[in-house]
Amino acid sequence: MKKGDGQLKKYDVIVIGAGPGGYASAIRAAQLGKNVAIVEKDRTGGTCLNVGCIPSKALLHFGKTMETFKKSQQWGFKTSSISVDFEQLMGQKNNVVKTLTSGIDFLLKKNKVTFYQGEAEIADDLIVKIGDKKIKGSDILLATGSKPFVPKIKGLEATDFMTTDTFFNMKNQPDTLCIIGGGVISVELATAMAVLGTKVTIIEVANDILLTEDPEARKTVKDQMIKQGIEIFSGAEINEVKQGKILLARDKVVSFDALLVATGRKPVVKLAQDMNLAMDESNRFVKVNHFYETSHSHVYAVGDLIGGYQLAHAAIAEGIAAVQAMDGVKKHVNQTEIPRCVYTFPEIASIGMDETTAKEAGYDVQISYSNLSSNGKALADDEAIGFLKIISEKKYQEILGAVVVGDNATELIGSIAGVKHAEGTVTELANTIWPHPTMSEIIGEGANTLYDQAIHM
Ligand SMILES: Cc1cc2nc3c(=O)[nH]c(=O)nc-3n(C[C@H](O)[C@H](O)[C@H](O)COP(=O)(O)OP(=O)(O)OC[C@H]3O[C@@H](n4cnc5c(N)ncnc54)[C@H](O)[C@@H]3O)c2cc1C
Repeated sequence: MKKGDGQLKKYDVIVIGAGPGGYASAIRAAQLGKNVAIVEKDRTGGTCLNVGCIPSKALLHFGKTMETFKKSQQWGFKTSSISVDFEQLMGQKNNVVKTLTSGIDFLLKKNKVTFYQGEAEIADDLIVKIGDKKIKGSDILLATGSKPFVPKIKGLEATDFMTTDTFFNMKNQPDTLCIIGGGVISVELATAMAVLGTKVTIIEVANDILLTEDPEARKTVKDQMIKQGIEIFSGAEINEVKQGKILLARDKVVSFDALLVATGRKPVVKLAQDMNLAMDESNRFVKVNHFYETSHSHVYAVGDLIGGYQLAHAAIAEGIAAVQAMDGVKKHVNQTEIPRCVYTFPEIASIGMDETTAKEAGYDVQISYSNLSSNGKALADDEAIGFLKIISEKKYQEILGAVVVGDNATELIGSIAGVKHAEGTVTELANTIWPHPTMSEIIGEGANTLYDQAIHM
């Protein structure tokens, strides 16, 4: 023990960062009987609860309500007009965020996790400094997450622009919004704002938006986005950003009242660098082994900091696995079991491998397919755009992956994830009795197409 260590407050586990990866790890470690501290420099809940998953889904819910209102006029509901009090909507969004973040504070207290507010620094080996306090952990778990990545674009720094860290503070709804970037975050926010009445333009330098998604899913969603009035420039070349406008190649100009840069996220690696932790092959993320141990003994890392799918539920699963590994139970989170969701109208939800990856992996691939056009609940809801694709292999009927596009697809994927996790096959999906009328019937129908036994196809 070094001189002075005697005054240190000691914990079994110190978690740094109280986003999904951090708070879930802290709570699970406490449930396992450990004496736990968590350090957060900003707000409990991290990106997800404060400026990510939750505020974006609140906005999308407002957008969905507006979309339903507009559709309902065609069904026979008659009202003269609907207007948006954006400030009030943002107030409602703030209430949702507050409820959830206070809930996390409550859970940390309930599980007797000691909370330190402030920026954690590494003082010495396994010793963390927060202001003038020093604490020592037998194990340290880094869950410092990620921040928006802003690329170098001529003129951008001299212009007013938002990232997702500031977007949700908007008080007034802009008439026009330009979003640089065409990934999942961009299309979700574009959808929400467009259906609420903002004219949205997306500028994407790659040759299409949503390149991470199944091509048919991408096309289905893109077609709907265009119908929602969203203008999309893909394969764009940005020459310069000026106040209120973007100059694209070939003399195209996009004017805007508000600009959002949504061009990906970069991990917050400061503490990892201070500890000289090894980085992965990309040199961007902290390198971990199967059980989330870094190159430094007794230091673990999870969540957006380590790459893979940068999703809240991935961070939570990794955090839980990491503290269980500290407790001697070593279990890896299989990336093929992490569902991926895009909350557009319609939604896209997928899991596991797509058709190409499955073939490249050497599987004898078979595809089951069905669409929502004959699904009773989808028709009753006027939400019949979408499809289901299950990717499986012929020998054992193992489910390798799935894509669902449709209203509430993000809820449907959970059933497939559950069966896949339990090592059930497409046959189990085909033989399950799905409640009628529900969108989930599409899963049974799709699975049954493999055996030429779908009833409604
Ligand atoms: C607009 C948007 C929408 C999203 N939607 C979804 C979605 O629908 N579903 C989904 O699964 N994911 C979504 N995500 C991604 C999700 O938010 C992240 O994957 C998730 O928050 C990662 O969790 P994390 O714990 O790794 O990091 P974070 O949530 O980023 O938390 C890291 C925390 O560490 C703290 N911290 C960093 N350094 C220090 C330090 N030195 N000392 C103390 N504290 C520190 C930070 O302040 C932060 O609170 C979205 C993201 C954005 C931006």
